[in-house]
Amino acid sequence: MSTINLGIIGGGQLGSMLAIAAKKLNIKTIIYCDDIDAPAQNFCNEFIFAEYNDKKKISDFISKVNLITYEFENIPFETLNEMNKFKPVLPKPSINRLIQHRLAEKDFVNKLNIRTTRYVSIENKKDLATLQDFLPGILKISTMGYDGKGQYPIKKMDDLDTLDIDFSKEYILEKLVKLKKEISVIVTRFGNNNYEIYEPIENTHENQMLKYSKIPADISQKILDQSKEWATRISEELKYIGTLCVEFFIDRNENLYVNEIAPRVHNSGHLTINAYNISQFENHIRAICSLEKIQLKKLSNAIMINLIGNQINPYRQNLKLKDNEFFFDYQKKEVKEKRKMGHITTLI
Ligand code: ADP
Ligand code: MG
Repeated sequence: MSTINLGIIGGGQLGSMLAIAAKKLNIKTIIYCDDIDAPAQNFCNEFIFAEYNDKKKISDFISKVNLITYEFENIPFETLNEMNKFKPVLPKPSINRLIQHRLAEKDFVNKLNIRTTRYVSIENKKDLATLQDFLPGILKISTMGYDGKGQYPIKKMDDLDTLDIDFSKEYILEKLVKLKKEISVIVTRFGNNNYEIYEPIENTHENQMLKYSKIPADISQKILDQSKEWATRISEELKYIGTLCVEFFIDRNENLYVNEIAPRVHNSGHLTINAYNISQFENHIRAICSLEKIQLKKLSNAIMINLIGNQINPYRQNLKLKDNEFFFDYQKKEVKEKRKMGHITTLI
């Protein structure tokens, strides 16, 4: 079989880990990214630096690859759709368009009779005046948000006066859930009712950013079953190909809610690299490249800690790892506050 050339849009840590997994499968990777310092260029076969609407660079990229995937969802639909006319883009551009918009995403989940938080669309500041019922809540930008960016916690209406919010953009207002726990479920779907699913991962956030992930999640059997069933059903309904992650909330009354869907590999799944026979990254590549599906086997329990900003420094300087510890440095050029710089997974 001739070598597969896989195009990946986005060059952050998820792109890097996809490229590493592809290499293991003898697949060549061409990464397209709008960041000249994208860390994934250290791990791929070829790197194209260009804006996501650069027609010439896009056609250059298309000519070099057999198929295309992406590591993040905030890519213009037009770009993915254009690429898909020439080479398969997986997951399908229409799926990405649905999920990259918080309102469309939540409407879709509700139509499946799967619970989400209560939410309402906000098109201008006036819309907020009558929405006392949704407070305390979080105002979230409808597109392009990640790691808590574009989110404003609102306790009372007066808070709006002190916040500098750009109302030329669309938002949703979400009622705050009294969280007991957050979990995520990662599924890799290969085709109709043909998938591998990882056990639920328990996630702890700090300042709306993921800090810790661990397996097993400390949850009831009922929540475990329901979260896996919902994640599988979502992937089936979308006719999804590849790895997908569903983030869930569990409230203090043991109700499960879908928070959001990521049409891609996910930060909480970093621990699958060390804790399973096949990582979420390798499974994603196996599914989109129509390679053999291998039965998933858990090798160990694990905890993953995200190293944010200068938390990476001590690990870079004084690396004394135990046999059960695995440190990943994303090799980002600049250490920045609130930037994910690396992680450490410990098998337990
Ligand atoms: P992002 O796209 O930035 O990941 P999320 O909607 O997942 O945005 O929000 C990030 C985190 O903020 C969540 O994982 C959770 O900890 C907290 N959060 C968001 N929405 C709510 C909510 N409605 N109730 C309680 N906590 C929330
Ligand atoms: Mg999230």
